[in-house]
Amino acid sequence: MADHDPHPFNCPDCAAAPGQLHEGGCDHAHCPDTGRPRAVCEHDGACASRWSGDFVGAAECREWDWWLIEDPELGLVPCPAGTKDAIEDFNRLLTHARWDADLQRYVRTDLTTI
Ligand SMILES: [Zn+2]
Ligand SMILES: [Zn+2]
Repeated sequence: MADHDPHPFNCPDCAAAPGQLHEGGCDHAHCPDTGRPRAVCEHDGACASRWSGDFVGAAECREWDWWLIEDPELGLVPCPAGTKDAIEDFNRLLTHARWDADLQRYVRTDLTTI
């Protein structure tokens, strides 16, 4: 959805500009092999990755229209694209997609259910 595309911004933790390597220990650095936060990666911090200008997986959520909205009673619930104040559904990346190390992005694993 074009109206959701944010402009690239610097890493909120280490302030790396888009295309630059994250600082060591940055909370938003991801492992290029697993797509997981580097903090929980088995590589022990050796996996350098670059800040793309957006959170890892955010572009995929927008591409697939995976959105959540905060409901006062139900908490975060799925919602259609274009909903005011919607946020990308990063949790769904863990259940309906997998990290592709060659493409350096998530690919869907639930295509058969569409
Ligand atoms: Zn960073
Ligand atoms: Zn790693």
